[in-house]
Amino acid sequence: MTEKLNLFIGGSSVKSTTKKWIEVLNPATQEVLCEAPCTTDEEIESAISSAKEAFFSWRETPPPERSRVMMKYQDLLKINQDEIAKILSKENGKTFEDAKGDVWRGIEVVEQAANITPLLMGETVENVAREIDSYSYTQSLGVCLGITPFNFPAMIPLWMFPMAIACGNTFILKPSEQDPMTSNKLAELFTEAGAPPNLLQVIHGGKDQVDQLIRHPDIRAISFVGSVPVGQYIYKTGTEHLKRVQSFAGAKNHMVVLPDANKNKTIDSLVGSSVGAAGQRCMAISVAVFVGSSKEWIEDLKNEMAMVKPGPWDSEESGFGPVISAQAKEKIIGLIEKGKSEATCLIDGSKCEVEGFPDGNWIGTTLFSGVKTESEIYKTEIFGPVLLCIEVNTLEEAIELINANPYGNGTSIFTASGRSARKFRHEIEVGQVGINVPIPVPLPFFSFTGWKQSFYGDLHAYGKQAVRFYTETKTVTERWFEEDEESTKNLTINLE
Ligand code: NAD
Repeated sequence: MTEKLNLFIGGSSVKSTTKKWIEVLNPATQEVLCEAPCTTDEEIESAISSAKEAFFSWRETPPPERSRVMMKYQDLLKINQDEIAKILSKENGKTFEDAKGDVWRGIEVVEQAANITPLLMGETVENVAREIDSYSYTQSLGVCLGITPFNFPAMIPLWMFPMAIACGNTFILKPSEQDPMTSNKLAELFTEAGAPPNLLQVIHGGKDQVDQLIRHPDIRAISFVGSVPVGQYIYKTGTEHLKRVQSFAGAKNHMVVLPDANKNKTIDSLVGSSVGAAGQRCMAISVAVFVGSSKEWIEDLKNEMAMVKPGPWDSEESGFGPVISAQAKEKIIGLIEKGKSEATCLIDGSKCEVEGFPDGNWIGTTLFSGVKTESEIYKTEIFGPVLLCIEVNTLEEAIELINANPYGNGTSIFTASGRSARKFRHEIEVGQVGINVPIPVPLPFFSFTGWKQSFYGDLHAYGKQAVRFYTETKTVTERWFEEDEESTKNLTINLE
């Protein structure tokens, strides 16, 4: 019988009473790994009310004590990194090495959450007026919610709940229904790290569950990562219900190649960042912009790209895994077909097969040149191992083209010229910039700062911005009188 995935409520695994279940499939075989529950309304209600209850004691727990839970947690995540990566690879399809990276980039955020106290420090000014002092505190919010996508089942939940909880909040996590098992493992380890019950609740399901959660009066803040239409919907609905929302959405990331760049490093970086994880990274490079004579490298790029093949997660031969679902595969193949009438298809991965895995969602590396910005393949986020090449004459043209694109998640430039790199990083209207670094995902002491249609909200994920997102600032203005001090009435707004 197919395994039924539990909810994680009250610090332990709980069987759902729902009648509706979603099959979780191994994308390399279509084997049913488990069934995830569509959590019932009552179960959601109970999870939120116990998270609310737990908040009142957790917010009183001193930050250094909260940090100690996170210290233990990051340790357990490191010890269990391979086991988590194995679960993740099976349900997501990522290669084992890439899955370990997915866990690792999450652990880095937990390390930051383990050092939360200095980040919570407020500000002070003495004598803001005569003998009056002002200072501020950061205080926790309440129950926060995280809704996560399929493509980083460990890293993205770990962007959210460790920072929110270290800031003194409790958290409801609704992971992707396509690969929900990793989240249960993350929650189990959190309890093992000594986290009191009810700080973290894992609710499974899809749109119906999200709809109930984002409207719930006891949810104070919502962190979302996923596609543009859903990201816009969550931002609009969440703010309409007067919640704080940060919503990270889709992307189309460009890499600019100047003729003075290191050719081999550029080509290897282009291949790795475009087809790694089957192109299913929000920071994947999906467009290469060749400036001037660098377009002559496209032939070498084609040869290098053709050598990288997809395969099962546990084979060292696999460059990347299958795409997440049969629907995703169908959508990508449709776009590749469309692309053939819009540009020159140099490598066509749409008929890819992997020996021994006839039912996998395979797409091979795919390369287009001569792509125009009006084309469908340029305008749509393909989210597959597909790289588009555009040729321009100058760096200025490349900058103009990228700035005209509605997305602003990540971009990079490969060059040996400091002056060109400076111009690019200064003028480009994208929130995360790499200079000879293809996927510039910031480490957690910075924040993940996507722009334009790649982000809706004000404060970004992890780093100092996450601390501000998950806390309120309380500012105190204070004075102490002499026992026999003279008094007059102050009828103005001035501090006297
Ligand atoms: P998705 O939008 O389909 O799903 C994300 C989450 O929203 C899931 O938990 C899902 O259950 C829920 N959801 C789906 N449809 C919904 C609806 N109609 N109403 C309410 N909730 C709904 O995204 P996905 O396919 O899982 O993830 C891929 C997308 O995520 C890509 O567009 C990628 O660029 C984006 N992404 C962005 C970032 C970033 O930081 N900007 C990071 C990772 C992924």
